[in-house]
Amino acid sequence: MLTYKALLDDASKLLYESSDTPRIDAEVLMQHVIGQPLAWLIAYGDTIATADHVKAFCQLADARKEGNPIAYLTGSRDFWSLTLKVNEHVLIPRPDTETLVEEALQRLPKDSELAVLDLGTGSGAIALSLAKERPQARVLAIDSEAGALGVARENADLNNIDNVEFLLSNWFDALGDRQAFNLIAANPPYVEPDDPHLQRGDLRFEPDSALIANGHGLSDLSRIIETAPQYLSVQGFLIVEHGYNQAQDVAALFHANGFDEITLFTDINDLPRCTIGRLHD
Ligand code: GLN
Repeated sequence: MLTYKALLDDASKLLYESSDTPRIDAEVLMQHVIGQPLAWLIAYGDTIATADHVKAFCQLADARKEGNPIAYLTGSRDFWSLTLKVNEHVLIPRPDTETLVEEALQRLPKDSELAVLDLGTGSGAIALSLAKERPQARVLAIDSEAGALGVARENADLNNIDNVEFLLSNWFDALGDRQAFNLIAANPPYVEPDDPHLQRGDLRFEPDSALIANGHGLSDLSRIIETAPQYLSVQGFLIVEHGYNQAQDVAALFHANGFDEITLFTDINDLPRCTIGRLHD
């Protein structure tokens, strides 16, 4: 017979080697299993855990010990003001990417009927955040993976966002001659194939297609920056996330493809993470 508190203590020890935050991991997994907030665990931690709870919690703790990301185990992650469903088809949304959302919103006036494109939407994090903040805008979210697009669609429903459309496409390929966009956003894969970070932490479990790009991690970024001008309205914006060491290359690509007002932004860790540019008229 184990109490909830004893289960948490055991799991914290179990996760000590594999996680930097063993206690928090255990608490988050337990909250997920029992469907109660941390306050409940603090108040009722001495209660004997039900057999179902013990079984479900131990399974999750074991999976976490193997390195599985918390977000995949609980099936959700908060991003911006949204709670998003996530699974192994999508990159886990990161707080770094909120920089991109913030800067995009600065350039999307409220109450105007803007057209916005999100390339490689994954869970829908960027597209849905922009759509929610700008209900008058029409947002198109593109992904090349049907599994990811399914998750993004579910997230639109879960968050009651209806000004987003979804399209299965490898970058711009299936777009045809749709109308021009006022802003194009992308968090494409940009990690080099031999980057040792891919062997660590959550990245080991996330889809390679969302993480890895050839040519020093720049192949998808360069394709997007080269093609975007064809799909932007006059003075439209392109905003991309990139690796902390790719800012110069990305700025050069923006310059070479007709953008000005090129500006670099840092993420929450103060690393250069996001570049925006405006198409010349
Ligand atoms: N920022 C992620 C990481 O390095 C990578 C995301 C991406 O490739 N778009 O953890």
